[in-house]
Amino acid sequence: MTSAPESSALPSVGFVGWRGMVGSVLMQRLQDEGDFARINPVFFSTSAVGGAAPSFAEGSGTLQDAYDVEILAKLPIIVTAQGGDYTAEVYPKLRDAGWSGLWLDAASTLRMEQDSVIVLDPVNRSAIDKGLADGVRDFIGGNCTVSCMLMGLGGLFRNGLVEWGTSMTYQAASGGGARHMRELLNQFGALHGTVAMNLDDPASAILDIDRAILAKQRHASLDASQFGVPLAGSVIPWIDSDLGNGQSKEEWKAGAETNKILGTDTRIPFDGLCVRVGAMRSHSQALTLKLTQDLPVGEIESILAADNEWVRVIPNTKVDTLAGLTPVAATGSLEIPVGRIRKLEMGREYISAFTVGDQLLWGAAEPLRRMLMIATGNL
Ligand code: NAP
Repeated sequence: MTSAPESSALPSVGFVGWRGMVGSVLMQRLQDEGDFARINPVFFSTSAVGGAAPSFAEGSGTLQDAYDVEILAKLPIIVTAQGGDYTAEVYPKLRDAGWSGLWLDAASTLRMEQDSVIVLDPVNRSAIDKGLADGVRDFIGGNCTVSCMLMGLGGLFRNGLVEWGTSMTYQAASGGGARHMRELLNQFGALHGTVAMNLDDPASAILDIDRAILAKQRHASLDASQFGVPLAGSVIPWIDSDLGNGQSKEEWKAGAETNKILGTDTRIPFDGLCVRVGAMRSHSQALTLKLTQDLPVGEIESILAADNEWVRVIPNTKVDTLAGLTPVAATGSLEIPVGRIRKLEMGREYISAFTVGDQLLWGAAEPLRRMLMIATGNL
């Protein structure tokens, strides 16, 4: 049985996946910006159909069935952060049923489809506007690391100043989801518990502590079911699936999505290694860029700073770097710090840079929120 969404002069927007990690951050941002006053939200669930819709969107009634194509198809816009399996199952059925609404999605499933636009409007607003004008109906959030990188370094890319780039990432546990964050913390706790008494004793030998930690890290009792191997006190230099050619899927996304977002005619080679580290929520990456010209560092910093209102150039000093260029400093903020900019020994066109971003904000929820506001004429 289906019921029609409440009628309203405001555009009706279906939300699927609103209580997951990305969805929750999206809901928070919509509330923070007062966006629920601009739309008529209809909430869906895969697990609690008929339950009460969230209280922050007054009058939105009960939770609808996220697999009910008939009711989904009544909406002009659907925003989903439910995940790739959901997209793969429901999206084709909707289109097959003749639905011509806008599909805004956090999952990667449709990202590289020819008919979709990857949304990151501070970087590619013109592609989004052109897409809407041309009848594109699928607007997909980009990979978190790519989006955060382009928010920080977009000024160089968009001005045609990058000949090629390589990034070495330091990606947080949150990229795997809530259970991965919990596992990391449980591991930290278990490791600390193993040596807590020795730590309290200033006379204890550090090598004894180190041995005990390693033994615990290698012991089957340390839960590593999400990441596969311990992350606490270690790093994991492989993220996402193995493409079979030596590259991880996360590494493939870096070059593919960067060029798609930028709409490059001639591909900018962009590649590197993606590494999971024990940070909680913000992703970091160290970049080496070969520029197309020898620009003074001060000019590079000015170009970066002028690109968008969220980028924050951190002076390349130890004091400023420690204060402003870490995951702890960046988390919870829409600002994207970028620093460690200096010329490398390889030549005048070679620079280093380091950038950090809250990957649940610019890396996931914020581009979708802004796309929704663009689609509804509010941005
Ligand atoms: P998630 O936290 O696992 O949430 C997905 C869904 O799981 C929820 O909408 C909810 O659906 C269900 N769920 C089951 N138990 C839950 C619980 N205890 N609490 C909350 N939700 C629960 O997924 P996610 O990390 O937000 O990722 C969603 C999509 O965004 C994925 O496609 C992912 O690849 C993409 N993405 C993720 C990130 C990231 O950093 N995590 C970044 C960019 C893009 P029901 O309410 O219907 O039960």
